[in-house]
Amino acid sequence: MPFLPTTALLATAADLSGTGILTLAGAGLLVAWILSLLLHPFTACSSCKGTPRSYGAIATRSFRLCPACGGSGRQLRIGARIWPQNRD
Ligand SMILES: [Zn+2]
Repeated sequence: MPFLPTTALLATAADLSGTGILTLAGAGLLVAWILSLLLHPFTACSSCKGTPRSYGAIATRSFRLCPACGGSGRQLRIGARIWPQNRD
């Protein structure tokens, strides 16, 4: 029988204990999270919730920008700096 990687994987998976399956599932979730950080590195700013303009009560057309995000309304997600394009 020729060597097929999928059959080897299936045989390995059948021999795994509960801990091994949990470890594999955890590694899969970790890879999915890291890919998610690559595709969507930003989240809404925790201070202004993504709406960085704070309008005045009297001069209602005037506003100031959120000092936490500098007016962008976004911040990097935790862990997103592992990708080089997100480093300063
Ligand atoms: Zn903000």
